[in-house]
Amino acid sequence: MSVSSKDISITKVEKSRISELDPSDIHFGMNYSDHMLIAKYENGAWQKPEIMPFHNMTFSPATTFFHYGQAIFEGVKAYKDADGNPLIFRPYDNWKRMNRSAERMAMPEVPEDIFIDGMRALIDLDRNWIPVGAESSLYIRPFMLAVDEFIGVRPAEKFLFIIITSPAGPYYNKPVSIYVQDQYVRAFPGGIGFTKAAGNYGMSMYPTMQIKKMGYDQILWTDGFEHKYVQEIGTMNVFFVIGGKVITPDITHDTILAGVTRNSVIALLRDKGVIVEERMISIDEIEAAHKEGKLQEAFGTGTAASIAPIYALTYHDDKMELPPVETWETANWLKKELADIRYGRKEDTHGWTLKL
Ligand SMILES: *Cc1c(COP(=O)(O)O)cnc(C)c1O
Repeated sequence: MSVSSKDISITKVEKSRISELDPSDIHFGMNYSDHMLIAKYENGAWQKPEIMPFHNMTFSPATTFFHYGQAIFEGVKAYKDADGNPLIFRPYDNWKRMNRSAERMAMPEVPEDIFIDGMRALIDLDRNWIPVGAESSLYIRPFMLAVDEFIGVRPAEKFLFIIITSPAGPYYNKPVSIYVQDQYVRAFPGGIGFTKAAGNYGMSMYPTMQIKKMGYDQILWTDGFEHKYVQEIGTMNVFFVIGGKVITPDITHDTILAGVTRNSVIALLRDKGVIVEERMISIDEIEAAHKEGKLQEAFGTGTAASIAPIYALTYHDDKMELPPVETWETANWLKKELADIRYGRKEDTHGWTLKL
């Protein structure tokens, strides 16, 4: 069945809850906008998507995703330009990535007219929920769940695709202290490291809890064979500036999530003539660069944090401190450049922002 955007049924709330939100005191992930979108997949086809008031849902205890983790998600943001018009940043890239996750997890692909047109209709309806303050945005969370009521292990046949949204206030980019992990492994070739599958995050909680107790903020994962080549950080891709060159792990081994922010950062740097190398980078190379005084900057990139500077990297007993973040040219420039495009302050030469 082909679904076009006019086929989205919309049931509006009787009264918006927006007045309950204090725009000067937004706690990310605590408030959800008035509406949500739900599309059902059954009998081999997507049914007509529905936008309805945000509500709790009930499931049989035998529902597949509770037991076997057939669940994937995405993270997108909408911003408001100076005239108050919503701009969604690169949603087509999230749509394509969600479908790559879906394929690997034996879930159906979500058609464009549900993912993109559904998101547009939802953001249009809840546009008042996009905060206008500096660095504020509306976080958009599309996700998909396997919902067969069957506790046998087999790929499911019924799925739900859902979008909810949550206002996000200014994200304070406190520089982070990173622990280079060489005991626990996040991803290996042939696995699901390249997907935004729920299990990738569940499995990271225990190792993260351990390093937080030791005083670090996040883990930099290394490869599953030699525990030597760096992969990524929690929910961010990683970049290093070494001797004037920018280096980031390549995403060709199925082990690293192809971040939309990562891709944007590489494009902006290359536009500017900066050399960006996408290749395997070992912790030995990073340590050697640090010893020679060539490790200039290190930062994470992701939709939530945008650019997160790393002030220290710890590998075994070696705590590598970086120069003061205020002096970093690349990360600070990128942060401003990205924000200018996202908020429509600067011409979007790549066609990244989607206007409603
Ligand atoms: C979401 C995520 C990222 C960042 O991707 P963006 O598209 O830039 O938000 C990086 N790594 C992992 C593991 C992630 O889940």
